Amino acid sequence: MREITSAGQTTEQAAEQFPRKVANGGARRAVFLDRDGVLNQNTVHNGRPYAPKRTEDFVLLPKVGEAVRQLRAAGYVIIVATNQPDVGAGLQTRETVDSMHERLRREVLIDDIRICFHVDTDNCDCRKPKPGLLLDAAKAHSIELSRSWMIGDRWRDVGAGQAAGCRTVFIDYDYSEPRPDRPDVVVRSLVEAVPFVISSSM
Ligand SMILES: [Mg+2]
Ligand SMILES: [Zn+2]
Repeated sequence: MREITSAGQTTEQAAEQFPRKVANGGARRAVFLDRDGVLNQNTVHNGRPYAPKRTEDFVLLPKVGEAVRQLRAAGYVIIVATNQPDVGAGLQTRETVDSMHERLRREVLIDDIRICFHVDTDNCDCRKPKPGLLLDAAKAHSIELSRSWMIGDRWRDVGAGQAAGCRTVFIDYDYSEPRPDRPDVVVRSLVEAVPFVISSSM
């Protein structure tokens, strides 16, 4: 059933135009999205995922634009939270990451992109599974973390979401690496995650 707003629009239409005004009681909810393996393809070698190296290797996964559109229509602020340690390790430039994100923003309506460029030995506060990217974004966008979700394809994403107090979705591609501890939902794609997130907010 579709609700109709006073302006005669469906709530979906209204949400698309004013995604920030539909969150109940002014407390905004977010969906934090990991990037590689959630929005765009990873390269997998020996069962382990690797981020694309060149801008031309940055390829979106099927139907992610539509999945994000549905999440926005349900009132969620969309924030990408990504570790890009190849930059800190000197294997990739920030310019390459920027040009990938230009491409991403052209195809998918995203409110913010938060990036950790560090490697483990930098001991920063933002490299997932630490929650720094999510906490900073929550402050900047007035997000209520307990009503928000983190979606990712690795244990670090689920760990960061849990540390920030969010509910978590693990997109399981059967990588040969440790699995996350007790994600709330396990699916095989971002598209599959959407109904779980939306039904949690009703
Ligand atoms: Mg990933
Ligand atoms: Zn960091």
